[in-house]
Amino acid sequence: MKKTVLVSGGAGFIGSHVTVELVQAGYDVLIADNFSNCDETNYKGVCAILGKEMPLVKMDFCDAAAADALFAGHKIDAVIHFAAFKAVGESVEKPLMYYRNNLESFINVLEAAKAHGCHNVLFSSSATVYGEPEKVPVTEESPRQPATSPYGNTKQMCEDILNDTVRSTEGSKEEIRGILLRYFNPIGAHPSALIGELPRGVPNNLVPFITQTAIGRRECLSIFGNDYPTADGTCLRDYIDIVDLAKAHVYAVRRMLEGKMKKGCEVFNVGTGRPVSVLELVNAFEKVNGVKLNWKFAPRRAGDVTAIWADPTLANNELGWKAERSVEQTLAAAWAWEKRLAGK
Ligand code: UDP
Repeated sequence: MKKTVLVSGGAGFIGSHVTVELVQAGYDVLIADNFSNCDETNYKGVCAILGKEMPLVKMDFCDAAAADALFAGHKIDAVIHFAAFKAVGESVEKPLMYYRNNLESFINVLEAAKAHGCHNVLFSSSATVYGEPEKVPVTEESPRQPATSPYGNTKQMCEDILNDTVRSTEGSKEEIRGILLRYFNPIGAHPSALIGELPRGVPNNLVPFITQTAIGRRECLSIFGNDYPTADGTCLRDYIDIVDLAKAHVYAVRRMLEGKMKKGCEVFNVGTGRPVSVLELVNAFEKVNGVKLNWKFAPRRAGDVTAIWADPTLANNELGWKAERSVEQTLAAAWAWEKRLAGK
């Protein structure tokens, strides 16, 4: 019997890539999304890649009755929860909207899962929980730092909510097992160029800003800060290919469903272990794609940490997962996606 995985937020950037990898690994996937932050481009792309119409429920997980009905109406073996707002700046402007949406939807997922015999919950967390780390690379044992935005705070709170739920249900017939995946900087697009990142308005993240500048939608990329204490003065991050990242979810789901977890709630860093500076990324983009990028140095962006990258040893050893794609391959995929969006 095939197992069914519910992917909340399955029409978004990460959710769509995860859906593709899960189906290709032999799982049935049910996508649920309210399309509040995306259109149907990625959903249609997923169907095109997989060559079939994927089951889709248009719903908002803040609606507790709808969440309950979804779990009551389907046999769901595991749920991966992506449905959340994700813009750091907006969360500072509208904290209540962020807390309500991101916490309420996750609580509703957990209550419905508990009520209807779904025991496996994977939550999409973030390396933002580590804040400005004292030591790099960060392991899962590195301390969490106080969040610097309501968005970051919702990630920490959802981690705690899952942890507490796991603890409180242990050994009961409503037992919930949890996996927290802490993503570093997901970038790129599917090699088919049929799904990818679709930022609304001016992109906040580096790679969509690079590709939009290269295609001519933006005038000039600002590199925020060249006076950081790093080799070239720009920040260091761990850029992880979106398909590699998606595959980590398949390994994590399999671990849950096959009963291989070593404790009720496990945490894994999903990164490459390879620090790359902003300048190195820009140079790599120009080189691999043969395009000249218009960029300039600009002042530091408030809230940016100097350097963070993952120690992915635990995920490598326990999940049997490893990031495989090079930064160059990933930047080529990001560029192919941008060109496709522009019809070029
Ligand atoms: N960055 C930049 N220009 C931009 C967007 C981002 O120089 O237009 C830098 C940012 O300062 C950080 C890195 O790129 O050092 C990654 O930023 P992003 O917003 O993509 O991810 P974050 O690490 O902040 O989650």
